[in-house]
Amino acid sequence: MRSNVNEYELISPGALDAVLKILSDASARFTPIAGGTELMVALCAGHLEPRKFVSLWNLEELRFIEVIDDTITIGSGSTFTDIRNHPVIVEEFPLLSQAASWLGSIANQNRATIGGNIVNASQAADSPPALLIYNASLTLLSTKGQRTIPYRDFHIAYKKIALAPEELVHSVTLARNTNGCKQYIRKVGPRNAQAISKVALAGLARMRDGHISDIRLGAASLRETPTRLTVTEQSLLGKRITAESIAAARSALESESKPIDDIRSTARYRTAVAANLLEEFLRSL
Ligand SMILES: Cc1cc2nc3c(=O)[nH]c(=O)nc-3n(C[C@H](O)[C@H](O)[C@H](O)COP(=O)(O)OP(=O)(O)OC[C@H]3O[C@@H](n4cnc5c(N)ncnc54)[C@H](O)[C@@H]3O)c2cc1C
Repeated sequence: MRSNVNEYELISPGALDAVLKILSDASARFTPIAGGTELMVALCAGHLEPRKFVSLWNLEELRFIEVIDDTITIGSGSTFTDIRNHPVIVEEFPLLSQAASWLGSIANQNRATIGGNIVNASQAADSPPALLIYNASLTLLSTKGQRTIPYRDFHIAYKKIALAPEELVHSVTLARNTNGCKQYIRKVGPRNAQAISKVALAGLARMRDGHISDIRLGAASLRETPTRLTVTEQSLLGKRITAESIAAARSALESESKPIDDIRSTARYRTAVAANLLEEFLRSL
């Protein structure tokens, strides 16, 4: 049943410092809300406990994309429309712009933020596989200061993240070192739009003298969190692309996949399709 909106409070201080101050007051217990595309669905479904929200929407300190010589930093309040249209992201980080382009619908992309996608911590979300293989780092912010962590350390367990209640995700930083890499991403779902993935795979590789000198694989819906497929990566490092190395990599992927059966798909289908996507990527190298 739909929740009663009178049981919720929303404040919008309009400045980052004021938001951080509100979040630092443990007794007040405010929850951040950005685009609201996750939280409003929960509210409409009656799954959101009554609480107080503090709005991050359109805070200029969080909605920016800054490009400098060797990095690009994306403010957590950037929408997926901002991301899919940014020329440097399109050119150098095409897996992230593609992921942005198939998240929900255009209306969603105008509202959904990258911070909300990361913090919601769904194993099926669209931006994490790309962020994982680009070795993204996250800057987290509170009134106590800021800290930076590798994104791959952010997801601890199912819906458990390395973020304190008083902290915000401030931004995501990517190193501009993808030149010469082969990149791959594919989302498998029932439709092209308005569909959460059944499984998705992102890949990045460098070849030297016919051998794989660097390979990174990021997956959605293969484990309880978005994940790097490290066993599969190790099985491929230094190898040529042959029928044997592909078969070994498929087995490695199957061994480290722990998907679930749910309303969107089955564990068996997810593992089989992910292995097919991996093979498609490897053959493209
Ligand atoms: C119709 C529809 C289709 C969708 N399709 C897809 C899809 O295809 N792929 C996909 O990945 N997702 C999809 N989503 C989910 C959703 O749109 C995304 O996860 C979106 O990125 C969430 O961002 P938001 O700003 O709206 O988050 P919100 O709903 O505002 O917040 C989500 C969570 O993040 C927290 N939060 C937000 N920003 C911050 C921050 N900066 N620091 C700390 N905490 C923060 C909030 O407290 C909340 O817990 C869909 C949603 C809808 C309604």
